[in-house]
Amino acid sequence: MATLAQPGVPWWTGLGDRPDRLNHSALRRTVEIRLYAELNDFVAREFRKRSFVYQFTGQPSIKDAVEAIGVPHTEIDLLLVNGESVNFSYLLRGRERVAVYPVFEGLDISPVIRLRPAPLRVTRFVADVHLGRLARHLRLLGFDTVYRNNLDDSEIVAISLAERRIVLTRDRGILKHGCLTHGYWVRSCIPREQVAEVIKALQLESKLRPFTRCSVCNGCLTSVDKAKLAGCLPPRVAQTLDTFFRCEGCGKVYWRGSHVDSLCRWMAGLRGSRRED
Ligand SMILES: [Zn+2]
Repeated sequence: MATLAQPGVPWWTGLGDRPDRLNHSALRRTVEIRLYAELNDFVAREFRKRSFVYQFTGQPSIKDAVEAIGVPHTEIDLLLVNGESVNFSYLLRGRERVAVYPVFEGLDISPVIRLRPAPLRVTRFVADVHLGRLARHLRLLGFDTVYRNNLDDSEIVAISLAERRIVLTRDRGILKHGCLTHGYWVRSCIPREQVAEVIKALQLESKLRPFTRCSVCNGCLTSVDKAKLAGCLPPRVAQTLDTFFRCEGCGKVYWRGSHVDSLCRWMAGLRGSRRED
């Protein structure tokens, strides 16, 4: 079984590999940990989808232990110790079996302790400075997404807490802010893949509301009378289309352009996909 030691202590694989180190570790305790589903993305390959041994000294909280392994607490929705659900303040004593589960909105885990205060019924996001294109795509899908290219970490955390928004980030460090409750570390670097990843991870397939929000400013789109747009539309658009929307935020006018069909096919694919593990 692979072994992962506390930060600052070299780790190695295989308990039999380094008996000398074990001999020096009389005060070191161990627990057996297993990560489930996408939480495996945070650890090296040899620790994925299997139990591994985590070594520690003292009596760390389970929150500190899982974050030391590399899993931000905001990614976790359920912790089981020897089959019983516990909260983040549980202190490890040694010899426990720990199971760590990510957010899973689709499963009923109401009889056990949910680690986050409550699931967010209305899914809203705040995206970090690296995720501008993801933010625009999410707005296209109808998700209320705050993004500015000058937000620093503390501002992102403050917006998340004040407006109950899920932090989307490429920087795991943000997710380790102690007061943060909802966040997701985006694995992919490619914007469209990032969208598919977020939809799958947070199980949002049924919550897509395409073309209801301005991709530029995040404002809501409302129907606007064609007559009010007289003189503002390209002649070909004015001749062929009758349905128009205007952003309540920036005033930008939207209509069903030639790219909409390909966007609709892409969105249909997003609705139909689910992570299986
Ligand atoms: Zn707008």
